[in-house]
Amino acid sequence: MKRLGEVFNKREGIIFIMSAPSGAGKTTLIRQLLSTFSGMRLSVSCTTRPRRAGEVSGRDYHFVTKRTFAAIRARGGFAEWAKVHGSLYGTPRAPLEDGVRRGRDVLLDIDVQGAKKLKKAYPQAVSVFLLPPSWRELGRRLARRGTDRKESIRQRLEHARREIREMMRYDYVIVNREIQEASRSLGAIVVAERHRISRVRRYRAPSLGISRAQKRHEQRTQGQ
Ligand code: 5GP
Repeated sequence: MKRLGEVFNKREGIIFIMSAPSGAGKTTLIRQLLSTFSGMRLSVSCTTRPRRAGEVSGRDYHFVTKRTFAAIRARGGFAEWAKVHGSLYGTPRAPLEDGVRRGRDVLLDIDVQGAKKLKKAYPQAVSVFLLPPSWRELGRRLARRGTDRKESIRQRLEHARREIREMMRYDYVIVNREIQEASRSLGAIVVAERHRISRVRRYRAPSLGISRAQKRHEQRTQGQ
């Protein structure tokens, strides 16, 4: 069975897209997913938004100027890009495509506009939408985060309303009522997608591996 297993390991990497209104619990879920599936890589986006306290450049985002962003965009360096809450965000193309070619699964944390563009460019990508359990809970989580001013929270709630309308375009939806339950559901999606027959790059029927001794035995018994 070893050879059959090797054939299935030769699949392309999968692009997993995660979108959620901010405050839905996406960051925690993504962290758990990456620790469960060690082969999966998180795509680090470029953004023109200012760095928040605790964020690390190169880990959370590549924080760039508008000018740098425009230059990368002009040379086709983004697989997709979008304006979100007044700042620009883009997925670097090279690490994404390299990862997929090498059989690495890549996780993208992007908004609904980006997800739409990415699905068009890479139809085999898998998109997951994460929903908060209720509007009230979403508002509460945004307020508790304390990273945004009141105006910004209102802006984010309004943005969430528009994003949730786009949910039906996604392949999967998870309601984040309880983080462990949501994490298990996301893990199940990843495992199922990895087992799709259509992900196998090429399949040559392997030899059955009949041993020489077996062959000799067959020849002898056929001659009798
Ligand atoms: P935040 O500024 O709170 O980290 O992210 C704001 C929104 O931008 C989130 O919905 C996040 O998913 C989205 N986002 C982050 N990186 C990208 C990206 O590269 N492309 C797009 N389209 N959206 C992104």
